[in-house]
Amino acid sequence: KTALLWFREDLRIADNAALSAASEYDAVVPVFIRTSGTKLRSNGAARDWWLHKSLEGLSRSLDELGAPLVLATGDPYVVLGDLAGKCDAGTILWNRRYGGAAAEFDEDLADRLTDDGFAVETFPGALLHDPGAIQTGSGKFYKVFTPFWKAVESVLELPDPISKPGKLSSPSSKPASEKLSDWNLLPSRPDWAGGLRETWTPGETGAHERLKTFLDGGISGYASGRDRPDGENTSRLSPHLAMGEITPAQIFRALDGASGKGSGSNEDQAVFRKEIGWREFGYHLLVHSPGIDAANFDDRFDDFPWKDATGDLHAWQKGMTGYPIVDAGMRELWQTGWMHNRVRMIVASFLTKHLLIHWKEGEEWFWDTLVDADAASNPSNWQWVAGSGADAAPYFRIFNPIIQGEKFDPGGIYVRKYVPEIAALPDKYIHHPWDAPEKVLVDADVTLGETYPEPIIDHKEARDRALSAFETIKDA
Ligand code: FAD
Repeated sequence: KTALLWFREDLRIADNAALSAASEYDAVVPVFIRTSGTKLRSNGAARDWWLHKSLEGLSRSLDELGAPLVLATGDPYVVLGDLAGKCDAGTILWNRRYGGAAAEFDEDLADRLTDDGFAVETFPGALLHDPGAIQTGSGKFYKVFTPFWKAVESVLELPDPISKPGKLSSPSSKPASEKLSDWNLLPSRPDWAGGLRETWTPGETGAHERLKTFLDGGISGYASGRDRPDGENTSRLSPHLAMGEITPAQIFRALDGASGKGSGSNEDQAVFRKEIGWREFGYHLLVHSPGIDAANFDDRFDDFPWKDATGDLHAWQKGMTGYPIVDAGMRELWQTGWMHNRVRMIVASFLTKHLLIHWKEGEEWFWDTLVDADAASNPSNWQWVAGSGADAAPYFRIFNPIIQGEKFDPGGIYVRKYVPEIAALPDKYIHHPWDAPEKVLVDADVTLGETYPEPIIDHKEARDRALSAFETIKDA
């Protein structure tokens, strides 16, 4: 008997329930489909870059196991039916996606394939806990993180690890594969991916190396250091998690194994687990509120007077707002495909509150440029910062980019790395160059408005403007 194994956001061999089930069949055909002709949201460019690299690794691993990966393009319903016919497979297996359009698509697909006579089996793995299975005492879903995470932790049982299968067999008639290089997932001209190549090692091996590095280092001091973009305390596991190269259960098991060996204090570990909990919460929200990537969770914001300000949006995207911490973040994103969480909050607040630009514009820019772009975490965090989300920061909490910079990058290390044109300014002015005396600017070779922009808006003015905008919807 032959099984088709459909890989999606689970590009790994270990701890892969669908792969393990497939290995029980006489023959397996692993497939990755470049989806087209459906309403599903396409990957952004940075994620496509990652996907290409990750598929190369997965392909090598599957070759070693004896069942080469087949690449195909199209509507999964058509492609899976066609491939199953070619290799005489009666069963189709996959690991589940949760919430939103992808989960709806998968459910509908499973029904159609079952109607066509296939056996469809699906498996968990991407999350610690089924996000639809957690409910409040009154049978509703959680809109606030802390009780949600308490509820998950109280029922959480880590599944046993699933080891990687031994040999797999290919069927005698095997469908042909498309060539990965023909998919054009990598940029050609201009090649914007140099910084990504320097920063990341996509794939399952890279994910486990990243986890090891973190457990040997960054986790110690994580609880206090995780907010510092000038440090190395966070794990940078997000793109690996987003592509399913590592599972949260593997991370939790590694933490259990590491405890007592000096890999972070209990507090460091608890805070880190909780951050992974935010990922689970994003999916919980997406399951119960599938439109969060397009619609305001708090519908008062449907009437918010957002501004249509293309020039400001471009300045923000390019890291040319004149606020060093904002510009450093936006340039880190462009250069490396990732941005530190604290700085994501600062730049998102700046876009939605200082510039009054709709969070959806920011969400889309992040979607295209983040290697960890995630269907649940991206919109839910954007809405959280904008004030329209579940458990959102109150609207009047408007980040002051100067104070945030001084607090979380006090020596200006982060700003100097990404905004080199002001690197020679003394620490005292690094987060607000416009206050520096002329002589200091001259000595540092900075001419505001020429070598580095003047602030595109005054902080106090922006704050007052945002609060008045909020007044118009507050009582709705
Ligand atoms: P660590 O601090 O090491 O945390 C470990 C893991 O916990 C992360 O890898 C991530 O999976 C999870 N996590 C941590 N914080 C959050 C959070 N606030 N929400 C959800 N999960 C979290 N994260 C994404 O994975 N994809 C996104 O598209 C994304 N978009 C964001 C947009 C905005 C506006 C903001 C403010 C945050 C966004 N985040 C997103 C959350 C967070 O910034 C990243 O998960 C984190 O910076 C990843 O770095 P890390 O792996 O070093 O995190």
